[in-house]
Amino acid sequence: MWRILVVLIAVLTACTGNTGIRLAGGGKSAYEIRIPDNPAAQEERAAWFLQTYVKKMSGVEIPIIKGLESFPDHSVVIRESVSFANTDGFSITTTGKRLTILGGDHKGCIYGVINLLEKQFGCRMYAPGFEVVPKKAKLKLPALNIADQPVNVYRNVFGWLTDDKDYQDWQRLDVMYDFFAEGYYVHTMNTLVPWQENFKKHPEYFAEINGQRVIDQLCLTNPDVLRIAIEKLKSEMAKQPGKILWSVSQNDVNSYCQCKNCMKVIEEEGSPAGPVIRFVNQVAAQFPDKIISTLAYQYSRQAPKVTKPADNVQIMLCTIELNRSQPIAEDPRSASFMQDIVDWGRIAKHIYLWDYTVNFNHFTSPFPNFHVLQPNIQMFVKNNVFEHFQQSNTDIGHEFSEMKSYLISRLLWNPEINADSVITDFINGYFGPAAPFIRNYFDTLQGEILKTGEWLFIYDPPTTYQNTFLSEANINRYLGYFGQAREAVKDQPELLLHVKTCELPVQYATMEIAKNQMFSGRGWFEQKDTGYELRKPMRDMLEDFYTTCKEAGVRTLSESGLTPENYYQSTLRFIDLKIEGNLAFKKKVTAEPAPSDKYSSGDLSYLTNGVKGATDYRVHWVGWEARDFTLTVDLERVLHADTIQISSLYNPSAWIFHPASVTCLISEDGAAYQPLGKETLGFDQRAEQTIRVYQFLPVKKPVRFVRFDVTGTKHNPAWHPSAGGDSWVFLDEVIVK
Ligand SMILES: [Zn+2]
Repeated sequence: MWRILVVLIAVLTACTGNTGIRLAGGGKSAYEIRIPDNPAAQEERAAWFLQTYVKKMSGVEIPIIKGLESFPDHSVVIRESVSFANTDGFSITTTGKRLTILGGDHKGCIYGVINLLEKQFGCRMYAPGFEVVPKKAKLKLPALNIADQPVNVYRNVFGWLTDDKDYQDWQRLDVMYDFFAEGYYVHTMNTLVPWQENFKKHPEYFAEINGQRVIDQLCLTNPDVLRIAIEKLKSEMAKQPGKILWSVSQNDVNSYCQCKNCMKVIEEEGSPAGPVIRFVNQVAAQFPDKIISTLAYQYSRQAPKVTKPADNVQIMLCTIELNRSQPIAEDPRSASFMQDIVDWGRIAKHIYLWDYTVNFNHFTSPFPNFHVLQPNIQMFVKNNVFEHFQQSNTDIGHEFSEMKSYLISRLLWNPEINADSVITDFINGYFGPAAPFIRNYFDTLQGEILKTGEWLFIYDPPTTYQNTFLSEANINRYLGYFGQAREAVKDQPELLLHVKTCELPVQYATMEIAKNQMFSGRGWFEQKDTGYELRKPMRDMLEDFYTTCKEAGVRTLSESGLTPENYYQSTLRFIDLKIEGNLAFKKKVTAEPAPSDKYSSGDLSYLTNGVKGATDYRVHWVGWEARDFTLTVDLERVLHADTIQISSLYNPSAWIFHPASVTCLISEDGAAYQPLGKETLGFDQRAEQTIRVYQFLPVKKPVRFVRFDVTGTKHNPAWHPSAGGDSWVFLDEVIVK
């Protein structure tokens, strides 16, 4: 598998004078499938594939017989061979009446049979459990002399689809733990030297950040850390002796040790990758028969100037920050990555490219990046990358999951294929009579992002694109195509579910944008003489979305694990307006100092728009970073109220904490204020609730101005992985009744 691969050789020639063979016909076959006496697992599996699909196509079962000493002319010989430069390579040849499939000693035999089934007989597996197998009374083959092998030695399209072993083989994919040791794929610093066991006694093993030792990362210049990591690996390797790849890589936190020793190395190497590579090289020297894998990710993406990775060190280079609307090589915004891949390509023997091809915060949202998949993979290969981890749709129902996986799998085998013909083949096969309408949707969506070339980020919400490829006019076009598509397959339940699942992202984007523009033409509500009224088509869409999720078995809508059930319930809560009897509704709010413009554009009217902030901090919350502040609401006249409310959000992983305290004051004239009450939470805040409501009772007191004096925690608490970092306060919906 890890033998160096040089060039792709794909030859397809017909041997002259060879008339081809008839594998089955008229309900019978003269053939037998021949494998060795003691077959390798892949030889047996390849034979099983051939037998199974010949039977599905023709109704004829060809027997599988062991033994290659002697065999009749009418035989299909399937045999492993070490003669292939790539262990997944294969050849298919006819000699007289015999068909021979030779395969490299990883999975070459299986891939030879799959090639035969796809290319010669038109069989397809588009998704786990969804295959197209043509019925054929006669199975004939022309004379064949085919050889093929993949351009890339390791091809992993990460996601739920490869849980299905048959699908994995049809797409010729590798999975994580074929080669990596269990538990040692990535982010292993804490596995090697756990803070839970060491931090109290030896804080100096851990990263120094802002003058404080924190558990984020290890201090990689500390010799004890190196010793403990090597000892741990030794004992783990004894438990998994067959595994070649072991990860020694940074935790998934974007910070690193800045102690005196580490900073010295960083300066010498011109990159925080310096201490990482020096550390990993020392580990790798202890294990010459293994490959030690490490990350070039976020802060460590830039190659070191002095130290080269050892020959048995694998560099996992990650594209996480990049724009996806343009091919990386052509996009000036990705210039620093291009520099990094060239630099690493010069000094590293193994580069393992970790690419990201979907929206991780909004799996079920349109993400038009199909046009960059091929040029990006071509560019990686051009820079000596032959090991690929394409992190794609991780669960059922995500945007174009099946088609993206299908296309990327084929591109990893051969980056020069005609990608458009693969897309056409997939859409026709997977959507049947609905294909022309799905194609219209696909082409329109892709065409719209090409018009703007705007930044397509793997974490942005649909609202980012609400004026471009998700504009009102575009969404209406998309929904129109899906209406036609549904109509075309209304009597074919399996295809109808494919269409409805494909529509989920458009529905999701529509509903999310409507939350952001609650009372506009695109919102959940329309203004009637009697007040605000929920739009019925929107309510129906939520129901339809939820029903399709259940039918299709969708389990998650985001990387953090949002379930369709939670999404449905929280959307219902969100559209339950707080307008009736709310004296603060649409009243003016001022703040000193003003909030950050990063969230809800810093627009204070969100605080009195009648809509409560969602559990997602990007939806209807207004935030202040690392400061105390004051909010004032003018109710426009002196009145008597029973309750005054405001809410705050808690999301430590996004550095958002409840205020340390909230004081409520009231005034008739806006000059003289009297305090009404104070709620104190303090600065520690472990295991708080996601949304906290502060309630104050101005019993019988006249009030026009309501003021909140808010004390923020300002910094992440000591227990936080990024202790000391600047923390936020997020507030929403002032309700006065
Ligand atoms: Zn250090």
